[in-house]
Amino acid sequence: MKKQSLLFSALVAASLLSSPSFAAQSSNICQAKSYEMALRYQQQSAEIAALQLQTYHFAEQRLATIIEKSKAPQKLAVVMDLDETVLDNSPLLVRDMQNCHDYTSWDTWSDWERKGNPNLIPGAKEFTQYANQQGVAIFYVSDRYNENKAYTLKTLAALGLPQVKEDHVLLYGTSKEERRNSISKHHKIVMLMGDSLPDVSAQFKNKKDTQYNRDLVEKNRQHFGEDWIIFPNASYGAWTKAPLTTWQEK
Ligand SMILES: [Mg+2]
Repeated sequence: MKKQSLLFSALVAASLLSSPSFAAQSSNICQAKSYEMALRYQQQSAEIAALQLQTYHFAEQRLATIIEKSKAPQKLAVVMDLDETVLDNSPLLVRDMQNCHDYTSWDTWSDWERKGNPNLIPGAKEFTQYANQQGVAIFYVSDRYNENKAYTLKTLAALGLPQVKEDHVLLYGTSKEERRNSISKHHKIVMLMGDSLPDVSAQFKNKKDTQYNRDLVEKNRQHFGEDWIIFPNASYGAWTKAPLTTWQEK
């Protein structure tokens, strides 16, 4: 291409880019696509599999220590969230994103609970089997729909998880805190596991900004890796609209 025609093309491109119609059009470009990098990390990276294995490995070691020190090991319980802690739901999120559908509206979720086939998070099976063999009660406390409970029970059983029973799978209805309190009436909860902070404590169930919650994390730092075990989830969470900090070069 000659220099002159290159210049002409550049001018045309510049005028198109600055035209109001282009601006309107570009704002219509699939917004859900902005989730793609996070989903790629969450679903495909070897690093997340390593992180998940690492987290479960530490949790198992920690549980072994707790059992060893316990005077009544038959009373011990672990409370586990399901989605993105035990179950990998990324195929639904990828499908929605590829259809330019914002999955954070959660209007496709119930259908996924009923018909979907989530995979296990790496390490989940081994950890739950270990807890089960040690006689530790496992309670799956999740905000999945209670009306879909039969489907969730079927999904968990098909994945070969232990203690998948009506009274060990506590789904949305009362708050997670209330469900934890009901478990505490007959068991001693020694470990809480989840990808979202309200999975471990109700104090994180707030509408505050991420800095407020980061400060709460700092205040509770002694819990992490002790009795609170957190899993990585880059695909959704309370943080998704947090403003970013930029480098102001001087
Ligand atoms: Mg979760």
